[in-house]
Amino acid sequence: MLSLEELQLKLKDLSQAILYEKERQYIDVQGKRKSFSRFVCDTLNELGSSPPKHHRYSTTSTPAPRKAGIESPLQTAMDNLHLRFEQYSFMDIAARMSAIDSLGELIKRFNAQMTGPRKRIATTSTEPTEASLDVNGDTNASKPVSIHQQEVQFLKGVGPRLASLLKQVGINTVENLLYYFPRRYIDYNNRVKIKDLQPDQDITLIATVQTVSAHAAKTRNLTVLSIVVADETGRAQASWFYGKSNRATLESYKSRFVKGMDVMLSGKVKWDSFKRMYALDRPQIETLSYQDAEQTQESDSLNAGRIVPIYALTEGLNLRFLRKTIHQALTDILPHMIDPLPAEVQQKLHFMPLQEALQQIHFPDNKEQAERARQRLVFDELLFLQLRMTLTKLQYKRAVQGLSLQRKAGGYVDQFLERLPFKLTGAQQRVFDEISADMISTEPMYRMLQGDVGSGKTVVALLTLLVAVENGYQGALMAPTEILAEQHYRKCLEWLTPFGLRVGLFVGKSGSKERRELRQSLLNGQIHIAVGTHALIQDDVEFARLGTVVVDEQHRFGVRQRSLLKSKGQHPEMLTMTATPIPRSLAMTMHGDLDVSILDELPPGRTPIKTSVLTHAQTAKAYQLVKGEVFKGRQAYVVFPLIEESETLSARAATTEAERLQQEVFSDRVVGLLHGKMKPEEKDTVMTAFVNGQIDILVSTTVVEVGVDVPNATVMIIENADRFGLSQLHQLRGRVGRGAHASYCVLVSDSRADTTLERLGIMAESEDGFYIAEKDLELRGPGEFLGTKQSGLPDFVLSNLIQDKNILDQAKGVATQMAEDPEALIKYPDLYEMLHEKTENSLSVLGAG
Ligand code: ADP
Ligand code: MG
Repeated sequence: MLSLEELQLKLKDLSQAILYEKERQYIDVQGKRKSFSRFVCDTLNELGSSPPKHHRYSTTSTPAPRKAGIESPLQTAMDNLHLRFEQYSFMDIAARMSAIDSLGELIKRFNAQMTGPRKRIATTSTEPTEASLDVNGDTNASKPVSIHQQEVQFLKGVGPRLASLLKQVGINTVENLLYYFPRRYIDYNNRVKIKDLQPDQDITLIATVQTVSAHAAKTRNLTVLSIVVADETGRAQASWFYGKSNRATLESYKSRFVKGMDVMLSGKVKWDSFKRMYALDRPQIETLSYQDAEQTQESDSLNAGRIVPIYALTEGLNLRFLRKTIHQALTDILPHMIDPLPAEVQQKLHFMPLQEALQQIHFPDNKEQAERARQRLVFDELLFLQLRMTLTKLQYKRAVQGLSLQRKAGGYVDQFLERLPFKLTGAQQRVFDEISADMISTEPMYRMLQGDVGSGKTVVALLTLLVAVENGYQGALMAPTEILAEQHYRKCLEWLTPFGLRVGLFVGKSGSKERRELRQSLLNGQIHIAVGTHALIQDDVEFARLGTVVVDEQHRFGVRQRSLLKSKGQHPEMLTMTATPIPRSLAMTMHGDLDVSILDELPPGRTPIKTSVLTHAQTAKAYQLVKGEVFKGRQAYVVFPLIEESETLSARAATTEAERLQQEVFSDRVVGLLHGKMKPEEKDTVMTAFVNGQIDILVSTTVVEVGVDVPNATVMIIENADRFGLSQLHQLRGRVGRGAHASYCVLVSDSRADTTLERLGIMAESEDGFYIAEKDLELRGPGEFLGTKQSGLPDFVLSNLIQDKNILDQAKGVATQMAEDPEALIKYPDLYEMLHEKTENSLSVLGAG
């Protein structure tokens, strides 16, 4: 059973994860080591039946861990939820939302049970504020805790209240504190007083907020947030602009600032002749203190050095205190810390020792030292990542004896290639060669195929499956939605059945007579290739000789689903595919345990998609375009984003719009409707009708996002385009431009916020998924890009991943060398211990465990 604190922490992580998942529109976000749904299942397990945990950090002043008992009705609810989340990645969006709602309810019940009359702990316990770090005081812990793993509460000056604030920013242990890097520094050399401001200068200003105002501009969809700040020499103004707002959003903008708060502003100076003061237009801003106005005339050395660190704060946590605490931790801990990086590596690559790097990253002597410190720490982080993944991969490959599947002259692969109405692109050929080499080798293939939308991954998947079939094995192709599975199935029927192969489609529920027959044929080996959704991994689906597994849109599945499918054979070859381009730099760190192939060439004859951005008032233009295209025999999509996180609402919006378009705009054409609330058979009917050209204009929610392939469709209208991420827009746009006809994408948005315009501008400018992904990464930062702020990769490191490509390569080289050295464990014991510890104590929400 968990202690009360641990329980609270788990519940908080869970709520956090839910938030990310909602933000990402329920895609079952992939953390560093597990998917959202896997994380939920694991956490539910821990909440339910975890064995008693020792408090490893034991000093006499620790409050006795209180056990949080779990009532049995709660347990039942948890078991039910567990079952649902096991299936989460196969659910449609509505079911996902409802599962998440139930999970939210459960968390509420837990919280209710914990609070009540007992309230929070710690208020009555002795505050261990005076206890400096007790290095050897580990009395009854099961295993000695290394010094940097001690809870931060045992640092001098940190009591339970501050510890709980630190927890809010993710700092639990002393090590977390040392690795809580500054967001930036104030260089006091660049600091300017308000009286010395001059137009067009780029400056940094430290001042106190005096007034805050936010108002909506009347004529445009624009909101202006302004503050007036003052230092001892004068007053200045700063303004920011946002899109359309209502009263609630106005209030929320305003609430970012409080009178008396100290801020640091950096930006370009202008003269506001109307207000008769200097103004900063959209400056970068950093909050220096909440609540109590801190003296800006800093006197002590930590706060008034030439370069002073600025940290991300939370309400109640004060910068000065944080600096002091970190300084304290550095002083106490650094002398006891072991640098795990082998001296020879450190020397060869000219890195700082760890102790120096930690000191310099927080309190740098100068800018150069700060940068050198950063490089060393980036290297460590990347090295650990790479080592972990390389080792996983090697272990896996060494542990098992896989199949050796060889292409046969005149076999199915050759026959398929002959029948194919087009030639493989160079990239398809190259990737298939890479795959073929993997398949011949007795090491099991564990490869990911990344290919932009429309690059022709399906053909590669079929080729891969055919290699298995011509060696007397079966193949399985799993896709995340029924629409997609059926589309693959149709391709198989068209291309594979003519030369006598039998393909089975596994979707929907089991138990029907048809399913029983299919199942039987699969078990007999009469079915060569099984195509399906998650239905494929249900217990009742068994293969005679499964040789190759392909998972399409792999990020939509959890690790567990993928491995479940694999476990239906004996170490089959495995290919996963994704159309969500991940910037190369990220791909290496996220998928280093897979071999990666990239389809970087589109089939010939595609005309570029013309992309434009319109406001709602201009949609008539878009309809005109649709009319013209439909007249030429083409088809169109109109897509709605998820509205207020409710598939029900979105479905309703799409339905209303479909009716309106049918009656008022395209009365002589056929308008169809597709959304997640429809029954699978209904969806199928609509999709088939669209594929067959019986529907001209398909109005839909985001269910068409993944993989749908109707080459005759040439117009994609995306409503409220600002509500989508760039990668999602790219995916949606990829539904058109699949044939030889010129295609169009219209992004409809009324938002005039700068960031929105910039993002939509990128869409209009480029069709290269990798470029778009890089830009998305740049604009939103890796946390949001990955959908998991805490994907386990600290933002600090990641935000520089693009520019730190060199360090990444170095880390990769060293990791590979070490992993392949059989003596590595003996040679680098500190490194391996640290690696082990880091893996165990990972802070990340989704990556934990
Ligand atoms: P994705 O990579 O997005 O899954 P698909 O496999 O659906 O792309 O392929 C997109 C379209 O391109 C399909 O209509 C497919 O038949 C066609 N296609 C695939 N390979 C080629 C090729 N080498 N030459 C011409 N068309 C191709
Ligand atoms: Mg596809």
